[in-house]
Amino acid sequence: MIKLTCIGHDTEFEINNIIHLFEPYMEGEYDLQSTLEGNEASAKLLKVGVVLYECTRQVEPADNEIKLKKNRKLVLKEAVYDVLYQLTGKQMPWGMLTGIRPTKIVHDYQKQGMSDKVLRARLKDVYRISDAKIDLMMEVAKAEEEILEKNQKDEISLYIGIPFCPTRCVYCSFTAYSLEAKRNQVESYLDALCKEITFIAEAKKDHPIRSLYIGGGTPTSLNEAQLERLLKHIKASFNLENVGEYTIEAGRPDTITREKLEIMKAMDVGRISINPQSMNQKTLDTIGRHHTVEDIIEVFNIARELGHDNINMDIILGLPGEGVVEVRHTLEELKKLGPENITVHTMAIKRASRLKEQQDDYQLAEATKIEQMLDISQRACRAMGLAPYYMYRQKNMLGNFENVGYAKPGYECVYNVEIMEESESIIAAGAGAITKMVYQNGERIDRIANVKSLEDYIGRIDEMIERKREGFEKYR
Ligand code: SF4
Repeated sequence: MIKLTCIGHDTEFEINNIIHLFEPYMEGEYDLQSTLEGNEASAKLLKVGVVLYECTRQVEPADNEIKLKKNRKLVLKEAVYDVLYQLTGKQMPWGMLTGIRPTKIVHDYQKQGMSDKVLRARLKDVYRISDAKIDLMMEVAKAEEEILEKNQKDEISLYIGIPFCPTRCVYCSFTAYSLEAKRNQVESYLDALCKEITFIAEAKKDHPIRSLYIGGGTPTSLNEAQLERLLKHIKASFNLENVGEYTIEAGRPDTITREKLEIMKAMDVGRISINPQSMNQKTLDTIGRHHTVEDIIEVFNIARELGHDNINMDIILGLPGEGVVEVRHTLEELKKLGPENITVHTMAIKRASRLKEQQDDYQLAEATKIEQMLDISQRACRAMGLAPYYMYRQKNMLGNFENVGYAKPGYECVYNVEIMEESESIIAAGAGAITKMVYQNGERIDRIANVKSLEDYIGRIDEMIERKREGFEKYR
């Protein structure tokens, strides 16, 4: 437990984030003083009034106030990181980086013309990032760059949200309603959603569409007729021949049927996700998934038989009760299936999840084990011919690690990269969906949010459309 006092600055939030990284490795009570005095930043760690460790750093000069502010923050964090490192002897794999988009730093420095050699040194010496994570960042940033440099002027991407799931997973914090409770509202939801899609198609008819992504919830929670209705409406609204990538996150295998896979194929969906999370039956039962491992294999094989040739599979490291053995098993099973994409998530304990409420009831892996699992999954994906192409981090991830998307060359998901790098506008439809209008190469981003509640979205759809209309006008 650390009591923080900030003197001469207001970087408390960022410094607290650094403290949280070290908390699992500390015992006892400490006082931490973080001080900015002129061009000197210092951190002092005390126990019952006695100074244990102390660090002082000089603020790098800058030619404008914004850069100078950034430099001050950086050294304040650096000094705190270093005293906590001295106390715990723990180097964090991501150093003092707490943001959710690690590759953004790489892109920013590269835009300033920094060479890879200088950039690597900066990531290591200033941010304290490990060599392995720097290698990963550089590789992913390069893959992202290859996708982003193909963005065309005025191009947009689309997101369509289906906020239903058969049951709620224990770790879920998304806008996802249990179908059991909301089944009788699905048709009204589709009425509203189709209305919003019609508006977007008309308003954005002159914009090329780089990627279209239907996510959720679980889009295949819709029954066959509902799914067909939605996909037919999309096909009638947009010229799909000009859509670069069309994905449905089919998601949970217990919602996927042969007929739904046929509908998706017939409606020109090019990429689907079949997300096992784990190939261990005991884990699937624990996390609240009402299907078997055999179901996953069966739907995957049907998808292949029907010609789905770009399939993603999500897995989660650190699921309750899972260790290295279980993760290895999951990856061996995926290898037999041979998907084009594997997305490896590290478990995050999200505030709105059941897992957070009942955390003490579940056995979760420690940071060192997660690190091993990440290493195993990276090796396994590479052995399957998949390379990392996008990456992000979340708050409260076990061990403070990362999520990484792997793909066979040419099968990288454009939408995933667009949403992470915020380099072009993403127009989003559905309950809780947030449209991001991107300008000036990502320098300015404006958001237009839809209401989250299902009932409000259905009842206030005209207002949501009006919000978009005004937003599109204003942010022209
Ligand atoms: S499938 Fe995804 S959205 Fe649905 S309950 Fe599980 S984690 Fe949440």
